[in-house]
Amino acid sequence: MTKAIRAMEEDLKLVDLIIELVDARIPISGRNPEIDRLAAGKSRLLLLTKTDLADPEKTAAFSRYFEQNGIAARPVDARNKKECAQVPSMVAEVCRERIERNRRRGIVGRPMRAMVTGIPNVGKSTFINSVIGKAAAKTGNKPGVTRGKQWLKLNRNLELLDTPGITWPKFQDEETAIRLMLVGSMNEDVLDRQECVSYLLRFLEDNYPGMLSAKYGASSVEEIAVRKNLMLPGAMPDTDRTERLILDDFKNGRIGRVTLDEVPVRENRPENQAPSV
Ligand code: GDP
Repeated sequence: MTKAIRAMEEDLKLVDLIIELVDARIPISGRNPEIDRLAAGKSRLLLLTKTDLADPEKTAAFSRYFEQNGIAARPVDARNKKECAQVPSMVAEVCRERIERNRRRGIVGRPMRAMVTGIPNVGKSTFINSVIGKAAAKTGNKPGVTRGKQWLKLNRNLELLDTPGITWPKFQDEETAIRLMLVGSMNEDVLDRQECVSYLLRFLEDNYPGMLSAKYGASSVEEIAVRKNLMLPGAMPDTDRTERLILDDFKNGRIGRVTLDEVPVRENRPENQAPSV
């Protein structure tokens, strides 16, 4: 973790802009707040990936939330080349001041250099592949400048470091870990599967009532096992197989479009005013 962060810090010295990918289903649990420190002085663009799997209303609310906190944010399906083709113009927008500052200093025509970051499985490789398309040419090593670094040229104004920076989520609590596991950004073996599934079923019943019944005609593991005919000898529900099925369905958006995190409530309290109790 520290080693990865240190490597990323080195790479960050080479770039003007950070394109941070965050899973739209867990825009809080799936981020390491450390990135805000690492990104100091850089231009920022935050892309909410896997929006095709997330709750559209929540995605819009999270985009507003990040914008209110000074980070330009856009939803994207990282597999969709057309959507990803919009990224260079988004970059031009977020880098406008920086480009203007360069121009005043007499630096004209130098492409912006960007680095993609995000936690495992958020879609970094998929995004890089989609955004480079066929047109991109590897610029190769620049002698004497960045030995060993490959830059992907998106257009004459934008180059992308071909190796993304991997950040690790910050485990604030067990709930964060469960949410990471549910979207596939943390190994299933680390947590108790049964506990994760019961968390998910409870969450869906509380936040998306009717979604489980619409999908399975049932809302408990045992009932779903019966409905799906996942039975053990002796007419016992095969809960283990059923739990795996539910997790797999959820991860792939087959239960429905769900966002697990809540948009943080902004505190608008004046600084010196005590909180009301
Ligand atoms: P990385 O570890 O961040 O590089 O993540 P990958 O690019 O390897 O993506 C992990 C998995 O998520 C792959 O199976 C991708 O096909 C899938 N994926 C990536 N982006 C999206 C997206 O926007 N929507 C959906 N549904 N799947 C995606």
